[in-house]
Amino acid sequence: MKKLDESFWIGKTFDDFLFRPQKGLSESRRHISLDSSLTDHISIDLPIVSSNMDSVTGADMARAMAMEGGIGVVHRGMSIERQARKTAQVKRSQSAVIENPLCLPLGTTIQQAIAFGKSNDITSILIETEAGSGILAGLLSRRDLPWTNDALDRPVEEFMTPFERLITEKPDISTEEASRILFEKRIERLPLVDSKRQIHGLITRKDVFSMRERPYASKDDKGHLLIAVAIGARGDFIDRADALLEAGADCLVIDIAHGHSVVMEQAVTSLRKHCGDIPLICGNVATAEGALFLRDIGASAIKVGIGSGRGCRTRLETAAGVPQLQAIREVRQAVGEAVPIIADGGIRYDKDIFLALICGASTVMLGSALAGTDEAPGRVIEDPATNMKKKIYRGMTSPEVIFNTLYDEDDNDELDRALETPAEGQEMQVPYKGSVVDILSRIRGHLRSAVSYAGETSLSEARKKILAEPERYLIPLSDSSRHESYER
Ligand code: 5GP
Repeated sequence: MKKLDESFWIGKTFDDFLFRPQKGLSESRRHISLDSSLTDHISIDLPIVSSNMDSVTGADMARAMAMEGGIGVVHRGMSIERQARKTAQVKRSQSAVIENPLCLPLGTTIQQAIAFGKSNDITSILIETEAGSGILAGLLSRRDLPWTNDALDRPVEEFMTPFERLITEKPDISTEEASRILFEKRIERLPLVDSKRQIHGLITRKDVFSMRERPYASKDDKGHLLIAVAIGARGDFIDRADALLEAGADCLVIDIAHGHSVVMEQAVTSLRKHCGDIPLICGNVATAEGALFLRDIGASAIKVGIGSGRGCRTRLETAAGVPQLQAIREVRQAVGEAVPIIADGGIRYDKDIFLALICGASTVMLGSALAGTDEAPGRVIEDPATNMKKKIYRGMTSPEVIFNTLYDEDDNDELDRALETPAEGQEMQVPYKGSVVDILSRIRGHLRSAVSYAGETSLSEARKKILAEPERYLIPLSDSSRHESYER
């Protein structure tokens, strides 16, 4: 293990350094790449991960994060079925080609078709000749639905566009050719069928346009959005992992307060035995020993941060923790670039994200910085005293989350565990912030700007340069320079 240069790093966190500006090399910051590794096999365009907290990441946040080039970790404070449903929803929401489009048979009533569309979150349904035949008979789109309720019990064939009038294509059509047809013929959907009318897939205008508008979105090789999901380390976590992988999760996150523990070791061992070589993020740890332990038991990425989170009281209640930049540096020195580091907790300003990255993190997890947005779970509340709009942000071991568990009579295992340790998190109100898309776009801009000040044309180059000689590029702050830098 490489020794940490103690005097330079000990006790350091985000407000303790500036970095020395270098000669700028890029003419336009728009082309600065921020591409970074989430795990040893997954890389993303924007190195931001939304936290697996019930006030931060549900399906809407996960979808928005991936659309913007980051990734979301859906929290696990819900039943396995619900978390799997949310995962599948995000996976189905985008694709180059929908390989197994949902179908209904001829004879289905309009009422049944409307209910089917609603429960699967789709607006057009392929109609097959009979259930399971896979032979295309027509397409029922939102536009075809009858205006009045009188026709609810009539069959779909009276309203759908029949096969003979549909524009279809061969299964092996290229995405570019499909885009051209969708555009020229002004159609929303292009079913792919063979000479026997057998359905092989469906291409939608929405997906094609979104691919063109957001080439940086985080997607798998089939064009589905990437999604990560949290599982626990005890109880039904293997069943949860199975259901989430089946629903299409790209990455599992075993997230426990104290990741350097026998509980983690047992969990990873059983999960690897059961699920094999899946991408698995483990945490949290904050020391070299903890990181080497996670690397050795087979983590695909290491989540770093003990007590740094805004909704967290661990340091206040137990005195356990390591200042966040010191922890990131220590872990990076121990494991190198082989296992990517996710810096988790304590980010208040965009400059903190850049500091975490140039001190060793490959990506940064955000909780409170993304809470309060439209995409975060929970309603906006208007404070009658101030007329300010707010949302709730809460630690996952806050008394409020534990209360919820106490009232969930179906889950006795969780209940026992919740009562095992006292609360180490807290709930707070945060200002309503609008869409997370705007926040991510601001972060992207500030990171590119920081890379430019660092005299490089990509984040990976800036990291490499500063990581090799941090003492040359980082300036420790005095009280007065901190005052000059941050007090406004
Ligand atoms: P933030 O970005 O808000 O500063 O920190 C988010 C991180 O705080 C989460 O990703 C998670 O690691 C941590 N966290 C969330 N809830 C709790 C909690 O109740 N207790 C503790 N100790 N940490 C928490």
